[in-house]
Amino acid sequence: MTCRFCGHALTVPFLDLGTAPPSNAYLSADALREPERWYPLRILVCPDCWLVQTTDILGPRDLFDADYGYFSSVSKTWLDHVERFAEHTVKRFNLSARSRVLEIATNDGCLLERFAAREVPCLGVEPTASTAVAARGRGIEVVEEFFGTTLVDRLIDTGGRFDLVVANNVLAHVPDIRDFVDGIHQVLKPDGVVSFEFPWLVNMVQSGQFDTAYHEHYSYLSLTSVDRVLRDVGLRIFDVQELPTHGGSLRIFAERTDGPGRGVTSAVPALAERESQLGVASEAFYAGFQGRAERIKNVLLSALIDARGNGQQVVAYGAAAKGNTLLNFAGVRADLLSYVADRSPGKIGRFMPGSRIPIVEEARLRETRPDLIVILPWNLRDEIAGQLVYARAWSGSFLTAVPDLERF
Ligand SMILES: [Zn+2]
Repeated sequence: MTCRFCGHALTVPFLDLGTAPPSNAYLSADALREPERWYPLRILVCPDCWLVQTTDILGPRDLFDADYGYFSSVSKTWLDHVERFAEHTVKRFNLSARSRVLEIATNDGCLLERFAAREVPCLGVEPTASTAVAARGRGIEVVEEFFGTTLVDRLIDTGGRFDLVVANNVLAHVPDIRDFVDGIHQVLKPDGVVSFEFPWLVNMVQSGQFDTAYHEHYSYLSLTSVDRVLRDVGLRIFDVQELPTHGGSLRIFAERTDGPGRGVTSAVPALAERESQLGVASEAFYAGFQGRAERIKNVLLSALIDARGNGQQVVAYGAAAKGNTLLNFAGVRADLLSYVADRSPGKIGRFMPGSRIPIVEEARLRETRPDLIVILPWNLRDEIAGQLVYARAWSGSFLTAVPDLERF
């Protein structure tokens, strides 16, 4: 195995979850009669550029198909986040009716809708048909393709280069990361800005967030590795912020090194120094994560078996991709966890990949009054526990498994 970015041999182990089906491949009732494909889910580290990456198994077209089940707009926490992002960038970078914004991985258009509301012209790129249709329904123009250098000319032909390129929560999902960032460099105006948001590898390691590993997630990013990737194609990071989203993310603003330049904020060298102190560019930082993942899995499994033994009814909330990683690694099936309740219309009536646990409407919780509700998207635990507070009326309690098992 060689590094997807620099070609060096991938010699540093990080995480091996055995095999798993693609995390977003929710199953229809008909599909239950068919076998499922399970692929190795292994993550290794490049000791040269320190890009943490899955071993190459699947192409993006196997993962992000027309029925892709993830819709951004379901979470209120997320909608607040995109509203603040639009507010911040429009002010800071003086975006107006004369500017152009490009968003890569537009999903259902909930971010671009906020730029459109501020009368900033915008264009989306989104490969999955189901979400692109939703974005168009909000009046957003969408190019239905994967982004990369082959798409550059077509995007520029729509009206020139862009003042702001938003590539939030997509960089980690890109197989050819070099081609992707090279394409961004080419569509930016000389004084343009690109924004990246991605779950921060340091939080993943420090909080044992092994369930954020799945095939669609090709890279696990640090400032150290992203800086190296961007510099190689002529982009310079000029600001970085820590965000609470997805269990702790980084937001990076970068610009062309051949442009006028804005000046680098002190946050950039400060965070680089923190990563250096933690040893992100050393093998020791990555050792021990496998053991942590196995402990979390074993503790959860014991809790579910105990609850079952005590005659308690256990269900889950939130049919998130990370839930699939956790349930499949732990080998949990519907005998231990009867169903997963969710609010996303695209998922209700389907089944979790691998575990084949049914996904049902939230109303089922009131009907069946479960003793224990496992919150699978632990990053939204406060929002979800608040939303489901009515379960307290029948003494229902909640459980999260990551970073440590907590029942509350
Ligand atoms: Zn490398």
